[in-house]
Amino acid sequence: MDHGGTPRISVLRLGHRIERDKRITSHLGLTARAFGADEIILSGDWDPSPLETWESVTKRFGGNFGSSFEESPISWLRNASKSGSNTIIHLTMYGEPWRESIKSISHEKPIIIVVGGTKVSGQVYDLADHNISIGNQPHSEVAALAIFLESWFGPIDEYSRFTSPELRVIPSAVGKTVINDEEE
Ligand code: SAM
Repeated sequence: MDHGGTPRISVLRLGHRIERDKRITSHLGLTARAFGADEIILSGDWDPSPLETWESVTKRFGGNFGSSFEESPISWLRNASKSGSNTIIHLTMYGEPWRESIKSISHEKPIIIVVGGTKVSGQVYDLADHNISIGNQPHSEVAALAIFLESWFGPIDEYSRFTSPELRVIPSAVGKTVINDEEE
């Protein structure tokens, strides 16, 4: 259990394409971190760039967000499924409506949220405990993940979650207020 007793949240990014997905994969990890996930697992093309971005943002803005690369994501997912200790959520426009499905997803077990990049293998649909759509129109893994996490995980106490930051943004109506702990 992490951050106040809620279960561990992992995001598995399938099918990263180094040429095509550089920015969106990077934003996916930042969104996972900002909305409550504990880690992101990257798969597809090996690409150190998003991993470096996530590590750098975590160092500057705090917390213990983890990131790693997985050579064999389907085997990894199959092992997670066999262990029975996680709930596997696959976000897909073909899935069941999130507003309904989310009510049946336990908050007692760690969850693995799977999002695609290139064409998603049918095995993922079979391994998932829930195939969930955020509307049935094609859009983006970043939007889908943000809405799912906000709906399932709910509000985040950034102060307690993003510990030991170098930089902390103070919400303000006008302009930017940033506390730089490095300067204090
Ligand atoms: N070509 C991929 C496939 O075969 O499914 C999908 C491409 S889509 C841009 C990338 C990912 O965004 C999907 O795998 C899914 O995880 C997510 N996504 C896109 N639209 C979605 C929706 N309406 N609901 C849930 N997830 C969605």
